[in-house]
Amino acid sequence: MNHVAGYITRKTMLYKTGVEYGDYTMNHVLGCAHGCKYPCYSFMMKKRFGQVSSYEEWKQPYLVSNTLSLLDKEIPALKSKIKSVMLCFATDPFMYGYDEIAQMSLKSIHKLNVSGIKCNVLSKGILPTELGKFSPNNE
Ligand code: SF4
Repeated sequence: MNHVAGYITRKTMLYKTGVEYGDYTMNHVLGCAHGCKYPCYSFMMKKRFGQVSSYEEWKQPYLVSNTLSLLDKEIPALKSKIKSVMLCFATDPFMYGYDEIAQMSLKSIHKLNVSGIKCNVLSKGILPTELGKFSPNNE
């Protein structure tokens, strides 16, 4: 089991994506341990805007520690507009070997689901079996 490199905080969590097949999205981790080399568009953007300095740093993920409190604040304000939330476009919610990230992803999905919001999960990791108990609308 791996540990995250550290913790960061963000001011917002849910945002509307410009991608045609997406609605809202959230990225509660900075970096991605998969470190794909195609290259990764998210890595290139984070490097360009100075949030990550190197590929090695990108592979050491930082968890957004205030993810759940941001969701508590943002879900009531946005839920009438949200059709679905994608986890994630700029990281992986279930990157292999990072239980702390997986737990935060599960808690986030649960919070969204109990508010009637469907989640779409995009991952190259291993999906936890707990997801099977969540909303059947999730994809
Ligand atoms: S899994 Fe996605 S976010 Fe992670 S490094 Fe690969 S392309 Fe980038």
